[in-house]
Amino acid sequence: MNNNLIETCCPVCRHTVAAPFFDAGEQTLATLGWPASAEAAQAMPRHRQEYVQCPRCSHVWNRHFSYDAIPYQENPNRMFNKGGIWKGHLAHTRDLLLARLPDSPTVVDIGCGEGHFVRGIAEARKGKGRFAGFDPNATAESGLGVEFHARYFEPLRDTPAFAPDAVTIRHVLEHLTDPTAMLHQLAWGAAALGKPVWLFAETPCIDRVFETGRLADFFYEHPSHFTTQSFRTLMEQAGEVVELAHGYGGEVIYALVKLDVPADVRARADAANRFARQASAYRNAITAQLDELVASGKRVAIWGGTGKAAAFIHQFGADARRFPLVVDSDPDKAGTFVPGTGQQIQFRDVLKSDAAQVVIIPTQWRARDIVAEMEREGIAADQVLIEHLGRLVDFHREAHIY
Ligand SMILES: [Zn+2]
Repeated sequence: MNNNLIETCCPVCRHTVAAPFFDAGEQTLATLGWPASAEAAQAMPRHRQEYVQCPRCSHVWNRHFSYDAIPYQENPNRMFNKGGIWKGHLAHTRDLLLARLPDSPTVVDIGCGEGHFVRGIAEARKGKGRFAGFDPNATAESGLGVEFHARYFEPLRDTPAFAPDAVTIRHVLEHLTDPTAMLHQLAWGAAALGKPVWLFAETPCIDRVFETGRLADFFYEHPSHFTTQSFRTLMEQAGEVVELAHGYGGEVIYALVKLDVPADVRARADAANRFARQASAYRNAITAQLDELVASGKRVAIWGGTGKAAAFIHQFGADARRFPLVVDSDPDKAGTFVPGTGQQIQFRDVLKSDAAQVVIIPTQWRARDIVAEMEREGIAADQVLIEHLGRLVDFHREAHIY
């Protein structure tokens, strides 16, 4: 057995065992601190950096990262965009995306910085369309040519609201604690739009770290380090990966993804929503039936007072004042109390001397056994009720599956 394993959750594939990769110790921020003096620089707080690798998807991350340690609101994430080869890479990826867009597109850039990438797209379309950049840090040059939102993009809410043709997220995912959540929510946000929504994503790629053993890649602001495999794993969670390639000599990796949620997954969410509406209606209907029983003045016993029977009592409001009589087949439970409502549970023999007119059996799946027990023990009742399809139904006289 290998002892060098760590219990932690991979932010890309959710695998829960990782292997130690690089213990960088405690270091200050490297790029977003902007200290004003040598003294301030030396006094900066230090943060734990312990990089681990997921053996399943090969992702590398700092398992001690805290997003709150980074002042994104106060300080810009300055990216140097003027190198010649880099500018060629920017132009290439911009054209890759432009080729997929309609004449007058809506483009949202998440973590846009001063907005150069989305501005480049706007210029290529001569301003025709809507171009929105999101970044919690606003700068003066941000607004030129694009509409600028000085806040985080909330994919579940903002994607349907902006109805983009493309979402770009460049050099952002490696800063996030949970990049998978961002991708899932983008896919869901786009699924409701009924039109193709392209995602262009780009991050640094650490494939070369394995060849070269270099360590300077690992600084606090980048908790996530993508390999080709882990980046692909992440992208596949957002939809159909149409293109995935490297740029800048293999130092960055990017993908063009058609955002989508599989039809069966969407259908399950719809079914859950229907169940939730139905559950609310069912609960109201059965609560009303219990009210009627109370109004009828009949002596009612609830058979069972723990587990699912207690859940029935809770969900339908069968309180101790209106439903004081709770019995159980198990003599060991007699004398204990229903959690939450407080009826004292009695052994079922109490019904022999003082019969109930109505017996409610919350555990309908064992009602047949309980009814047999009642017959065997000579416990009579006018009516036995069970919960079925949003009503209390008569076990002997109405249709049900039990
Ligand atoms: Zn993983």
